[in-house]
Amino acid sequence: MLTIGVDIGGTKVAAGVVDDDGVIVEQTLRPTDAEHPDLVAETVAACVRELGAGREIEAVGIGAAGFVDESRSVVRFAPNLAWREEPLQKRISGLVGLPVVVENDANAMAWGEFRYGAGRGQSHIVCLTIGTGIGGGIVLDGALYRGRWGMGAELGHTQMVPGGRLCGCGLHGCWEQYASGNALVVEAREIAAAHPERAEILLGLAGGKIDGEEVTEAARRGDDASLSAFAVLADGLGQGMADLAAVLDPGCFILGGGVSRAADLFVDRARKAFEERLTGRGHRPVAEVRLAELGPSAGLVGAADLARRR
Ligand SMILES: [Zn+2]
Repeated sequence: MLTIGVDIGGTKVAAGVVDDDGVIVEQTLRPTDAEHPDLVAETVAACVRELGAGREIEAVGIGAAGFVDESRSVVRFAPNLAWREEPLQKRISGLVGLPVVVENDANAMAWGEFRYGAGRGQSHIVCLTIGTGIGGGIVLDGALYRGRWGMGAELGHTQMVPGGRLCGCGLHGCWEQYASGNALVVEAREIAAAHPERAEILLGLAGGKIDGEEVTEAARRGDDASLSAFAVLADGLGQGMADLAAVLDPGCFILGGGVSRAADLFVDRARKAFEERLTGRGHRPVAEVRLAELGPSAGLVGAADLARRR
């Protein structure tokens, strides 16, 4: 049975036809304008029509970066898109004439990894998508955990530092302000500003504008400030995973997202920090910390599979 998975980002829509084995048969990518919900819907519909031509498609699954309601049809709010109480399911279904399921993008990624990636064979996983922020997805006892109103697993917005950095969600001190791609850059900039002598390689590379790629490259070349920024990221991740393990006791954590491409610079330290901060340490099995396997397609594949199981 073929379904179409769609991943809606801030600037583009990625879609793919996915088979029962989680294999992407064909995919497409179109730019979109996140400021205009009707244009986003038109772009999604165009992708579905293109991919569906000459094929029998059963349903469409959409991964969307926002708070999706419990009926998996309305995006209540999206921090980076213009959606407010957006009836996405109805709108897309009306345009393409197929059943549509809407899911939070990080949940869709977690489901993709659980079914076909690093979470295969596991029953309890926590998936962390480390990009600009931290997206969270939880699978418990083989089922996606969505909470009472579909708002569960917003793991990046648990508080790590009381009164800390302002988050895009409006709160202060959220975990994702200390353990994400943004956090990495903020940390490196702060160290470079206070101690430029520790950031000579970074400042040389960046030429005034420090972003994630420069911090990564500078860390690989031994830049002290950049390595310190990665250490802060690793320790923040480890602390957060230990907190989650205290609540959820998962069998494994899966780390994905753009920042995980630089995993060699932080994952060992994050694993160590996690184990050191784990409650009941020494008297319990320790969850594995694995890297995601499906890359940027995890959300699309997961959404397609959720549509199949609607
Ligand atoms: Zn937040």
